[in-house]
Amino acid sequence: GRAGKALFEAQRVGRGKVITHGGYYASPAAVRDGLTNGEFFLLFQPVIHLSTGATAGAEALVRWQHPTRGLVPPAEFIPLCEASGSMQVLGRWVVRESIEAAADWARRDRSDGQQLSISINASARELASAGYGDYVLDECATVGFPPSLVRIEVTETDFGTDAAAVRDNIRVLRDAGVLISMDDFGTGHSSLSRLTEIDLDVIKIDRSFVGAIDDTTDSPVADLTIKMAAALGLDVIAEGVETKAQARWLLDRGCPYVQGYLYSRPVPSDEFVARFVEEALTSRS
Ligand code: C2E
Ligand code: MG
Ligand code: MG
Ligand code: MG
Repeated sequence: GRAGKALFEAQRVGRGKVITHGGYYASPAAVRDGLTNGEFFLLFQPVIHLSTGATAGAEALVRWQHPTRGLVPPAEFIPLCEASGSMQVLGRWVVRESIEAAADWARRDRSDGQQLSISINASARELASAGYGDYVLDECATVGFPPSLVRIEVTETDFGTDAAAVRDNIRVLRDAGVLISMDDFGTGHSSLSRLTEIDLDVIKIDRSFVGAIDDTTDSPVADLTIKMAAALGLDVIAEGVETKAQARWLLDRGCPYVQGYLYSRPVPSDEFVARFVEEALTSRS
C-alpha cells in the first residue's frame, strides 16, 4: 500500500537525511514544525484492574493531525519518524506530555487512594538514544511525579537489540523504580530463557491473541502467557479486550489487568479525567 511504499523510501534514504519521496512529511524539520504548530496530541486509554473494574492507570498514544493529510495513525508515522531521525524529538515530547498529564491526575487526589500509573511507548531508537532514561527521570523530577508510577513499553521485537545503550537506559530507569513492559507479547521470538534474563516487570499480551477469544474459541497463547507471567513474577495486561466474553475468559484465568474498547477507546486527557479520575472521586459519595 501507500504507507508501505513511503516507509520503504524513508528507510532507503536513511537516518537524518532529507526524505524526498513518500515519507517527506515525517522529516525532522516537518516533525519539529508539527510540534511547534500543535499538530501532535496524546490520547489516553485506561488500564483496568479486571476483578474490581478499578482504573489502574493509562497508556499514552500519540496522534498527528496533519494539515494536509488529516489524522495520521501512529502505525504509519512512527516508522517514518524512526527512519528519518525525527523519532527522538517526537519521543521526548511524548514523554514530557505524558508525565505532565499523569502529574495533573495525581494532583486530583482520588478518594479511593489509587495512584494512577502512566505507560509510555518507546521505540527502538528512542530507547537506544543516549540519555533517554535520564530524560524520563528529569521530567518526573520537574513535575514531582514518582518514577515508580511510570511504565515504559517496549515492543517484544525491540528487546532483541542487544545494544549497550538500550541496556544502559533500562538500567537507569529500573534503578529509579520505573517499570519496563514488554509490548505485543507473542508476536516476537522471546525464548523462555531470554525472558528470565532481561530486566522486565510487565508483559502485555498482544491483542491478536485476545481478539481470537469468543464463547467457543480459546487462546492457548494468552492462557500460557498468563501462567508464565505468574510463574516468573511478572505482571500481565491483556490488550484489545472488546467483548464481555473475552473479559470473562481472562478473569477465569486470573489475568489481573486489561485494556480495550470494551472499557474505553483512547480518549483526550480531559475526558480521561472526567470518566476515570473524577469518576472515582464521586463513586463513593
Ligand atoms: P500499542 O502500544 O500496542 O498500542 C495499542 C494499540 O491498540 C493502540 O493503537 C490502541 O488504540 C489499540 N487498541 C486498544 N484497544 C483496542 C481494542 O480493543 N481493539 C482494537 N482493535 N485496538 C485497540 P494506536 O493508538 O493506533 O497505536 C498503534 C501503535 O503505535 C502502538 O501499539 C505503539 O506501538 C505505537 N505508538 C503509539 N503511540 C506511540 C508513542 O507515543 N511512541 C511510540 N514510540 N510508539 C507509539
Ligand atoms: Mg503500548
Ligand atoms: Mg507499542
Ligand atoms: Mg501492544
